[in-house]
Amino acid sequence: MRWDAQRLDLDEPSTLPGLPDVRGLLRSLQVPEFPGLTLHEVRCKSALNAVPKGSAMPFGHTINTFRGCSHACVYCFARSTHEWLELDSGADFDQQIVVKTNIVEVLRRELARPSWRREHVALGTNTDPYQRAEGRYRLMPGVINALARSGTPFSILTKGTLARRDLPLLVAAARDVPIGMGVSMAIWDDDLHAALEPGAPTPHARLELVRAITGAGLPCGVFLAPVLPGLTDSLGHLEAAIGAIAEAGATGVTVLPLHLRPGAREWFTAWLVREHPALVSRYKTLYGRGAYVPAEYRSWLARRVPPIMARHGLDRQSGGSARGVGAAGEGSASPDTGLPGDESAGFPAGSLPVRRPGADPPGPPVPEQLSLC
Ligand code: SF4
Repeated sequence: MRWDAQRLDLDEPSTLPGLPDVRGLLRSLQVPEFPGLTLHEVRCKSALNAVPKGSAMPFGHTINTFRGCSHACVYCFARSTHEWLELDSGADFDQQIVVKTNIVEVLRRELARPSWRREHVALGTNTDPYQRAEGRYRLMPGVINALARSGTPFSILTKGTLARRDLPLLVAAARDVPIGMGVSMAIWDDDLHAALEPGAPTPHARLELVRAITGAGLPCGVFLAPVLPGLTDSLGHLEAAIGAIAEAGATGVTVLPLHLRPGAREWFTAWLVREHPALVSRYKTLYGRGAYVPAEYRSWLARRVPPIMARHGLDRQSGGSARGVGAAGEGSASPDTGLPGDESAGFPAGSLPVRRPGADPPGPPVPEQLSLC
């Protein structure tokens, strides 16, 4: 494995079982509560990852508390990131989870730098911060606390119902900095969910998460993604999904078709061949020329979604505005646009931190005014 980037002190005496080339600072373990998972505890050197300049993403930095994701979504676009560790993008991504045990301490240091401009930081863009291991390591309370205390707006995207644990903390944080909350959900058929997202909470549980977030007074945008051609793009499926999401109180919804980038492409294709061989030739046509569906499919999907959104009081551009529900702040502007693979799609309202009109920009850290844990 290319672990050197994680190494802080090569003089540490112990050598880890199974990782003979790495001295100290890492420990690999399996624990009874997570059968099948191997947790690799590392000390990270940095917590904030800069988004490459020129990216369409409406945030400049991300934080990943883990690498790999036990939610194990077959279609996960982040699979190839595991190859950097010389682990594979298939089962290793699901089962070999790297835990950045010192991330809160490192983050606090980075946020305290005079050069830190307190710009939007996104969590959940590459691996889920509320995957199973978070129950053991409890990294997120420290991350939330550090961001809020430093005056840094942030957003969290998750499928993990463990986020409910931190709702009181998030509500307190939202009094001090703008925050955005996003939940992704795509599948409404329990069997399909079990086959495609075997480690993730059920769609019903995620709907309850949306309800809990909005019930706590926080915004919550839903990514209805990925829509799987021939599997979840029927009118009936979209109607059921959008109706349930609206009923759960989502502030906005963005519908996105499946992307198949390298890593995810091989893993998903193997699954499709095994489980739905009749669809293989259709997917070859759709994804034969690249990671994204052709414009014709995007247009076809884009035509069927708006009437359903409108029927349920949601609209594609500004999420909850049609239902009289503000985004992450009453009167906020439409969310940013430019999602990879569908530049016409915006982030759902509520999923990005939005400063209330007239609100002051973040000032210097004022920890004494915060009411966090
Ligand atoms: S929850 Fe997100 S990061 Fe985790 S496997 Fe699924 S798609 Fe990937």
